[in-house]
Amino acid sequence: MLRSHTCGELRIEDVNKKVTLSGWVQRIRDKGSLIWIDLRDRYGITQLLLEEGRSAQELIDKARTLGREFVISARGTVIERVSKNHKMPTGDIEIDLTGIEVLNKSKIPPFTIEDNTDGGEELRMKYRYLDLRRNPLRTNLALRHRLSLETRKYLDSQDFFEIETPYLIKSTPEGARDFVVPSRMNRGQFYALPQSPQTFKQLLMVAGYDRYYQLVKCFRDEDLRADRQPEFTQIDCEMAFVEQEDVLDTFEGLIRYLFREIKGVNIEKLPRMTYAEAMKTYGSDKPDIRFGMKFVELNDVAKGKGFNVFDDAELVVGINTESCGNYSRKQLDKLTDFVKKPQIGAKGLVYVKYNEDGTFKSSVNKFFSQEDLKVWAEKFGANPGDLMLILSGETDAVRRQLNELRLEMGNRLELRNPEVFKPLWVVDFPLLEWDAESGRYHAMHHPFTSPKPEHEHLLETEPGSVSANAYDIVINGVEIGGGSIRIHNRELQKQMFKLLGFSDEEAQAQFGFLMNAFEYGAPPHGGIALGFDRLVALFAGQDSIRDFIAFPKNNSGRDVMIDSPSPISQEQLDELGLRIVEGES
Ligand code: ASP
Repeated sequence: MLRSHTCGELRIEDVNKKVTLSGWVQRIRDKGSLIWIDLRDRYGITQLLLEEGRSAQELIDKARTLGREFVISARGTVIERVSKNHKMPTGDIEIDLTGIEVLNKSKIPPFTIEDNTDGGEELRMKYRYLDLRRNPLRTNLALRHRLSLETRKYLDSQDFFEIETPYLIKSTPEGARDFVVPSRMNRGQFYALPQSPQTFKQLLMVAGYDRYYQLVKCFRDEDLRADRQPEFTQIDCEMAFVEQEDVLDTFEGLIRYLFREIKGVNIEKLPRMTYAEAMKTYGSDKPDIRFGMKFVELNDVAKGKGFNVFDDAELVVGINTESCGNYSRKQLDKLTDFVKKPQIGAKGLVYVKYNEDGTFKSSVNKFFSQEDLKVWAEKFGANPGDLMLILSGETDAVRRQLNELRLEMGNRLELRNPEVFKPLWVVDFPLLEWDAESGRYHAMHHPFTSPKPEHEHLLETEPGSVSANAYDIVINGVEIGGGSIRIHNRELQKQMFKLLGFSDEEAQAQFGFLMNAFEYGAPPHGGIALGFDRLVALFAGQDSIRDFIAFPKNNSGRDVMIDSPSPISQEQLDELGLRIVEGES
């Protein structure tokens, strides 16, 4: 028998039991007359004890040959510890050893297998199987398991079927680049890996499956960031005979269920905010509503006073950062530097301090009287001791910049507590967005999203002002998921493709299968997909999704452990009818 118990389960009640434990040697402390070995497995750590004079000399000699990460099986008796460790679940006991079997040796690991390891990112990725032995990673993957299990339980209780859809498909236009797979049997032709199962889940609705879900891998060939991976997992869902309200209710239910089951947190009914309101008051379609600092527009009171910067701007808008009125010159300069960073791109920052004595000190005192500034303060709802920060410029740009500043102030003032969760729905997204570069409209969500019925008549004349039955779920400033009510009518789908610049032939060639299906009794349907990796990271209060995925890719999309992507042999290339053209990328 290799083990009778795990390394996480023995307690004071087990004293005097004869046990066998197996695991990895975490640490050996050799004090001469006493030797302690910490033995670790997935379940925890148990301390093993050897004592000169009491334990067999042969066993002591053997223990001295062990190294970190050796795999051993240890026999002994559970005894009560003299000095207990209350931080460890097994901290009341230790094992008085009677036998050790080395199951496998280990080289010295390239970094320490500790909670705070000395290993850098690249090294940890290369030896991911060692990194995964560490507690933080183990806890992350345990959380991931719990979330997927509870998600399945909830969706099952709501009559959803988990149905797998294929990975070798043809491209789905979700806005990113496809990963493609050459077909050997169909030379010169390629599959694409799904950016999402979008068209398949819609076909399942046509097929009458009514409620579908899948925890599914999706593939997008885009530039990577901390919260993006080329392959990632979605909780993908679709429902038939539903309106927007039904989808929101069902998935609000899922989110609340997960928070309750997993974090013991009761989430109130999710507030709704229109896209237009989110952009106007937070400068973002994924507002972090854990804190206020809502945007206040000042055009009517800040323009026409001879300050050119404001007079020439399309929008003058600011935030009130409560209780920062005591910021020093240096702190204000730092904020100005922040908004002027190239990634943010503001030209400058105007500040107004509301002094405790009721006067105002601002960077634009020359142009604005104390009375003028008092009017601003009223608009901001500011009080003495507050600091107002104001940006101006072209509307979209200035909103984006002020959003960055707002989040920065939220961080500085520690208003973004990762243990506080504030989800909301953002609704009424525009159907289309104009892309100046290509000179045409793009679908804001995807081409299968339906316009609001009351806006359908505007599709021909004013496509830019059509709202969609599209929604996002946002938690703490992170877009956790999005979806829409779909088009289920061939003619409307055709019209949509036309708006997006597809000829009838192109639309038929690429999406004929879907439009044809719409002619065989497609029910009204809609759905949503939640980013599963992001959801897990959020539950753990972290930004990066990488440590919530067992084997992730690095920033250049590489798996440095298996060293992929990698060249393939000439034989494979020939078989696929591919030729590498050197010197181009
Ligand atoms: N397929 C969409 C996405 O991946 C989600 C949806 O519309 O259901 O974002």
